[in-house]
Amino acid sequence: MFKHIRFALVDLETTGGQHAHDEIMEVAVRLVGEGVDDSWESLLDPLCSVPTFIQGLTGISQAMLRGKPTFAAVQDGLWDLLQDAVLVAHNARFDAGFLRANFARYGRQYSPPVLCTLKLARTLYPDWPKHGLEAICHRIGFYSEVHHRAMADVDAMKAFLDYARKDKGAAIFNFEVGLQLGIPVLPPSISQEDIDAIPCQPGIYRLLGEAGELLYIGSATSLQAQILAHFKNTAGDSKAAKLARRVGGVQWQMLAGELSAGLHVSFALRHEKPQMQRRIKAAGKPCCVRFVANDKGDIQLRLRSGLPANIVQTGEIVALFRDRKQAKARIIESASHSDLCLSRLGVLAVGEHCVCSVCDALADLSLPASTVSVAEPAAFNAGVTAAFAEYAYSPWPFDEPVLIREQNEAGHEEWHLVDDWRHYGSFHWDTNHQRLTEYAVHGVDNRTSISLLDARRRCEQSKDFQYEHYRLLRAFLNDLEWRRLSEFSADMPI
Ligand SMILES: [Zn+2]
Repeated sequence: MFKHIRFALVDLETTGGQHAHDEIMEVAVRLVGEGVDDSWESLLDPLCSVPTFIQGLTGISQAMLRGKPTFAAVQDGLWDLLQDAVLVAHNARFDAGFLRANFARYGRQYSPPVLCTLKLARTLYPDWPKHGLEAICHRIGFYSEVHHRAMADVDAMKAFLDYARKDKGAAIFNFEVGLQLGIPVLPPSISQEDIDAIPCQPGIYRLLGEAGELLYIGSATSLQAQILAHFKNTAGDSKAAKLARRVGGVQWQMLAGELSAGLHVSFALRHEKPQMQRRIKAAGKPCCVRFVANDKGDIQLRLRSGLPANIVQTGEIVALFRDRKQAKARIIESASHSDLCLSRLGVLAVGEHCVCSVCDALADLSLPASTVSVAEPAAFNAGVTAAFAEYAYSPWPFDEPVLIREQNEAGHEEWHLVDDWRHYGSFHWDTNHQRLTEYAVHGVDNRTSISLLDARRRCEQSKDFQYEHYRLLRAFLNDLEWRRLSEFSADMPI
C-alpha cells in the first residue's frame, strides 16, 4: 500500500515542553520503508542547563551531555535523513514543533507529512483507557528496560505499528494511516474493483453504513472522482473523515447531467434524511426585495418574506434571496462593496449603524457637515441599481410548462417538467408511445407513465416555490434545450 513512502520514526528528548524556550538533548530516528531500515541516534549538548525534573524523568544527566555535538553540528545529517520521509511520532505535534523551530534557525523549512501514533492509537483502540506510549507497550506486551529515552520510544512506536497492522488487518490500518496523511485509501469494505466500476459520468450517489443505513447523498459531474474524494482527507478527525470511517457501501445512479443530478439530490435530501448530513431545513420562505422611491426620490429597499402570487406582474421586485437572513447579508455585502449608504437604503434596524464614507465623514466632528458631499438621488439610484443587478429576479420566461432536455455523452437522456420555476418531475421520453415515463428516484421504482396532456394537468396543481430549484434551473436557462409543452410532440422525433 505505502510502498513508495519512507517513514521516519522520530523521538526527541528535550529540556522542557516549549520549542520556543527549550532545547533538544537527544534525537533518535528510525527510517522504515521498502528496502530501508536504518537508524541513528545521538545525545545533543543543549547549551543550557537541564532541569532536575527532566534529568530524573529521562535519566539523562547534565554530565552525560557534556562534549556531545550540538544541534548545529548534526543538523545537516539529520536534515538528509528526514528528507522526503513522513514524520512519525507519538504526539507528533510536539516533535514536529521542535524540529521545525530548530531547523528554522538554520534557514530550513521543515514541514513534512505527519503521522501521529497517539492519534492512530486513539482511533484504532478507542476503548483503551490510556494511549501513552508506556500504556501501549504494556497493552501489547512490549517490554523495554528504558523509557523516555529516544531510541527506546522509537522502538516502542515501531512495535505498536507492527502490532496494530497485524491486529486490525492491513485494510483498516492502511485506511487510518491514509486518512491522516491525506492519501486516498478505500474503506476496508470497498475494493478498488468497486471504485473502477463507477462511471466517470454525472449522477447521484449514496454512501451507506455497515448495516446499510443511509449516511450521505451527493451529486457529481464525475461519480467516480466525487466518491473517491470522500476517502481523501488531510484532517484525520474531521467530519469528512468520520463519514469515510463509517462507509460500508456505495450506491450510485448515472444521470443525464448536472441539472438532473441537482434536482434528484434536492428531492432525495428532503425525503431520505441521511444521518451524516446537516438536516435540510423545512423550505423557509424566500425573501423578495423591492425598490421603492421615498419622498426625496431615493430608492429604498423593502424586504418581504414569501413570494407574492403575482410576482410575474410585480415589476418592482428586483431581487430574490433564499431567506431573509441571506437577503440582509447580501445587501450589506453589496452596499459596502459599492459604498452605498445603508441608512439611505432604509435597511438598518434599530441599533445598527452604517459605515459608508458619507456616514463616516458625518461622524467625524472635526469636519463641518457642509463639506460632506452627498450623492444626488439620480446618481445614488444608479449606484443602487448597478449594485443589485446580479441578484435580479428572472420572471418565468414562458407562458406555459416546458420540458428541459439534458443529455450526456453516454447518450443518457432526461426531460424535466418545469412550470413557473417549479419542478414537476423528471422523465424518459418514450417515442413509440408518445408518453413520458417517470424517472425512478430514491430507489423506488414508481415508473408512472403519463401523456403530454397529463403532464400539462400536473402543472396546474399548486406547488411551493423552491429557491434552490429556481437557482439551479435559471443557471441552465441558456445551456440546455427548453421546449414548450405545446411544441413538444410536433417536434418529435428527436
Ligand atoms: Zn451611510
